[in-house]
Amino acid sequence: MANMSLKKNEMPSQDPKIRKDNFLEVALGYSEEQAVDEAKRCLNCKTKPCIEGCPVRIYIPEFIQKVAERDFEGAYQIISVSSSLPAVCGRVCPQETQCEQKCIRGKKGEPVAIGRLERFVADWHNQHGKTEVVKPKQNGHKVAIIGSGPAGLTCAGDLAKKGYDVTVFEALHEPGGVLVYGIPEFRLPNAIVQKEIDSLKALGVKIETNMVIGKVLSIDELMDMGFEAIFIGTGAGLPRFMGIPGENLKGVYSANEFLTRVNLMKAYQKDSTTPIYRAKKVAVVGGGNVAMDAARCALRLGADKVYIVYRRSEAELPARVEEVEHAKEEGVIFKLLTNPVEILPDENNFVAGIKCVEMELGEPDSSGRRRPVAKENSEFIIDVDCVIMAIGTSPNPLIKATTKGLETEKWGGIIADETGKTSRPGVYAGGDAVTGAATVILAMGAGKNAAAAIDEEIKKKYSKNQLIK
Ligand SMILES: Cc1cc2nc3c(=O)[nH]c(=O)nc-3n(C[C@H](O)[C@H](O)[C@H](O)COP(=O)(O)OP(=O)(O)OC[C@H]3O[C@@H](n4cnc5c(N)ncnc54)[C@H](O)[C@@H]3O)c2cc1C
Repeated sequence: MANMSLKKNEMPSQDPKIRKDNFLEVALGYSEEQAVDEAKRCLNCKTKPCIEGCPVRIYIPEFIQKVAERDFEGAYQIISVSSSLPAVCGRVCPQETQCEQKCIRGKKGEPVAIGRLERFVADWHNQHGKTEVVKPKQNGHKVAIIGSGPAGLTCAGDLAKKGYDVTVFEALHEPGGVLVYGIPEFRLPNAIVQKEIDSLKALGVKIETNMVIGKVLSIDELMDMGFEAIFIGTGAGLPRFMGIPGENLKGVYSANEFLTRVNLMKAYQKDSTTPIYRAKKVAVVGGGNVAMDAARCALRLGADKVYIVYRRSEAELPARVEEVEHAKEEGVIFKLLTNPVEILPDENNFVAGIKCVEMELGEPDSSGRRRPVAKENSEFIIDVDCVIMAIGTSPNPLIKATTKGLETEKWGGIIADETGKTSRPGVYAGGDAVTGAATVILAMGAGKNAAAAIDEEIKKKYSKNQLIK
């Protein structure tokens, strides 16, 4: 029988008072009973608008139906037709602006908790499902992937499944991209990402770490090494700053550096030797997921006061609603309609405060959001000893600078069509490197499209049906 409750089954989670001092996962996941009960809220409606809301078009009502029937492995098989990282997406996708926003149960009450169900199914499969991987027959063609974030990993997996000899080149010492260096353990445990990477390796994908393409090897050199196509999934990891006085003081971080030290370099572990400034009063500038992650990490590293400083109002915060709620529950203080104008030094050039102005919202700007305007004579100082800038990132210019014939936008994004094809023959690109900072699911979708296009191009070059050189 359908469950007509207007509310989602609540997600069990760690008590905020306890979790603010640890890095263990906050959301604990549905039990089988909760998942089945939630699945019964899906009306399996005719129009299935939720599928339209999903960038990789998962057959959502079908997988939910399987959950309602307690066929959890069947549900997993349906999801994996469209998504290669369901345990990741079930945890970090902004479902409230995608599939769940379209769910007709949301018209009167809360939508079906599609993300929580996706996570349940992926976790159930990881614990109980069949994980043996059948290595596909090799077709003799080599493809290189640059960058091991969700775009690169998805592209690599799809090509490996088709029999390509795939090598991923990653600049950092661990693969995973933002999933490993940016998103903290308490939102996305490393073990989940590691499992996905292990299954790619089992498919035959080779991963070479500490390989900064553009420094160690160039794209031309990769071509000379016999790679017939190259996918660039290098993300958008170059931090932006505001250009205000005091940004070079000791105690100012970019969110990327701070999060990399905490997550990838494991500063969160008690016995870690990674240098990190465990400040007591921290201001994080920005209002996206990156800002929330940095603020919540700072709290867990022992800060007494952590502020989010954001120039618009709560309605415009770009972070996922759940992350904002979790940050508030843990005690992060939101200074909204507030803009920094200067970071103040102490006598040793350490941060001693952040001078801000109050803002009000004016007419909408080109993004459609109301433009924040500074109020006159509204300056005030927030007493902090550390400032973390989380105001956005751009693609690193290294690949562009070292690759002939690769066109980019003014702001650095690689120009590519919807299949990932760039201006340089044989070179494809996707994910944040093309769009600028976006989402995991969009990066995955781009990796998937590019894998299909690369396969098609290589097939065309050789025979119609077989891929023998
Ligand atoms: C802190 C944080 C929190 C986020 N939270 C969310 C969230 O909750 N939900 C969501 O959907 N999205 C979130 N995002 C955005 C999301 O993570 C990104 O959109 C996504 O990871 C982009 O994937 P990608 O594969 O394009 O790039 P990335 O994940 O950035 O991976 C790129 C990889 O390429 C490597 N690389 C770069 N240059 C080179 C080179 N020259 N040679 C070799 N390797 C190179 C990098 O080291 C990196 O490993 C968050 C981002 C951050 C930073």
